[in-house]
Formats: sequence, structure tokens, C-alpha cells
Amino acid sequence: MKLRTLTAAVAMTTAASGLLIVSALENPAQAQETFEWKLVTSWPKNFPGVGQGPERLAERVEEMSDGRLTIEVFGAGQLVPGFEVFDAVSEGTAELGHSASYYWKGKAPAAQFFAAVPFGMNAQEMNAWLHYGGGLELWNELYDDFGVDVLTAGASGVQMGGWFNKEIDSVDDLDGLKMRMPGLGGEVMQRMGVAIVNMPGGEIFTSLQSGAIDATEWIGPYNDLAFGLHQAADYYYYPGWHEPTVMFEAIINEEAYAALPADLQAILRTAVRDVNQDVLDEYTARNNDALETLIDEHGVELRRLPDDVLAEAQEHSADVVAELAETSELATRIHDSYRAFQEKVVNYHTISEQAYYNARNPDASTD
Ligand code: CA
Repeated sequence: MKLRTLTAAVAMTTAASGLLIVSALENPAQAQETFEWKLVTSWPKNFPGVGQGPERLAERVEEMSDGRLTIEVFGAGQLVPGFEVFDAVSEGTAELGHSASYYWKGKAPAAQFFAAVPFGMNAQEMNAWLHYGGGLELWNELYDDFGVDVLTAGASGVQMGGWFNKEIDSVDDLDGLKMRMPGLGGEVMQRMGVAIVNMPGGEIFTSLQSGAIDATEWIGPYNDLAFGLHQAADYYYYPGWHEPTVMFEAIINEEAYAALPADLQAILRTAVRDVNQDVLDEYTARNNDALETLIDEHGVELRRLPDDVLAEAQEHSADVVAELAETSELATRIHDSYRAFQEKVVNYHTISEQAYYNARNPDASTD
């Protein structure tokens, strides 16, 4: 509001609301103060889906704040490399980051609980745990030591199992493969004989095409098509047991956040919550069209992971997650909260979501 409008408003308001406006008038400079933030991401600039989240976040914050808070978005490698996003926000090089928390397992192993747990909760369930089950408070407690706050800022939904340059008919076929797979899923694969390599998304295609890796997972059809992974491997496996969703994160420098007036803080939080849903909606809308393109136009061979691979992966996943829970007192609390919530939500989802899927499509085969 302009000062002139405010003065007129004060003259006409009742005593109660007038008090509020007068207090705003006492510090008109603060109301006009502008902030210019940088947002670093682990994704290629303007990448579909996950890369659109931070772009929309910047647009919405600028619009809602009438330009008082502007955010410049940097893709991976433009200001800092994709895997240095957390440090950049922690140190204040950038005020905001958009990434996935399992990339920081070297700093805080328990961060992996908030990105993806193999055979764990899906996007709907993770959102419920984070926002109504105490998950987000635990995540912020974990990041407290690093001077950053965190909000969840997008979900991929259930991912694909990955791209392989040979057919996988049994667990034995995994032995000796070199594969890119981050987080807990990577640890599980390692126990199944796979050599795991980690790298940011932008390096995957070249590595797969050159033969530096034999297999990779990335996200799902929409994003995998965008990277052209079908040009480097023939076989596309499902389901993404390792990532029943990835929850993306908005990391916020604590000092920068504290310096914002309360209304800009609220605008930022609201915009992140909006983007959190929006990213998932984009994946849900685009994945199937992209899958059809991959199969019909590019001749991709769609395959289901064999039962013994899924069964063995589930066994190792239980071990890997239990071991992660032992890494610290906080990791134990996060694990216990996650598992307790999963047990409850799955109890109801078995007779709601799952029973409904089965009822809607009783003849469906995923084989
Ligand atoms: Ca993935």
C-alpha cells in the first residue's frame, strides 16, 4: 500500500484495525525494503519437472510480494556445482537451495529419510508425515547444525527402476554392473553386487553413453526422455522400488530468513508449499505421455524387474534402513517416527488407495 492510501485508510478505519495500520506507518521504510536472493539448484537450468519447481517458486514469490523479494535461479554449475548446493546455502553464498536431501548423506546420514526410503512411503504419505506427522520438525532439527531451515518443495511420485544396457532376468545379472543410483537405494544395490557411482543428473547421459556406467536410474519417463537416456540404453525397468517418491527440498539460510519481515516469510513459505504440490502435478500429468513416446517412437523395451530382484532388494532395504537408524540418537528418532507413521498410513491405505486401485482395474497386470 502507498503511504497516501494508508493515511486515508487510517482516517476512515475503526479503532481496532486503525491500530494495525498506524503501527505499519511507524516504520514505512521496512514495508518498502526489498530483498534480492539467489537460489541454487542441483538440476540443469529450466529442466522439466524438478527444475521448473524453483523457477515457479521465484515467479510466485515475486508476484505475491509485489517485487519486494526477488529470487534469481541458478542451475547446477552456474553459481555452484549441483552437489555443493547445501554448503552454498549454509555458508550464505545463496539464500535458497533446491535439491534432494540424500545428496547430503556424507554430512548427515539421516537426511536420507526425507528424500526417499526404499519400499517406504509414497508422495501422498510423505507429505502427510512431513506436514502432519512431525517429519518436517525432525528434518529441521537435523539441519539446525548447518544454519539452514528446510521445507519440502516438490515430489516426483513413484519413479522408474532404471535404464540398463542388458536384460535383467535375475539377481545374478546385476553382479558387477556399474550403476548410478543415489541414497539408500544405491546402498541396497551395492549389497546385490552392483558398483554404485554417484553423479548429478546433468552428467548421467554422457556417462551412460560412454560406457563409464552400465545402468542408471534418474526419475521417470518425463525427465528421462528429456535427458535422452533412451539413446544410451535399451531396457527400461519398473517399478522404482528404491524411490517410491523423492521429496525435493527448499533449503533456506536461517539468517537470511530471519532478516525478512514476517509477511515476506509467510509469502516464501506459502510459495514453497504451492510448488511442493505443483511439481508432483506436473509429473503426474506428463509421465504417461512421455512413456508412450519412449515406447512408440523410440522403441524402448519396457520391462518389470524380476521378482527375485524385488524380493532381495526388499530384504536388504530393511537392513540398510535399520543400520541408518543406528547412526545417531536423532537418526533413531527420525527412523522411529517414519516407521510408526508408515505403519499407520499403510494400514488405512491398504483398504483405501490400494483396494480402490484393485477395484477400479481388477484385470490390471503389472507384469
Ligand atoms: Ca531417482
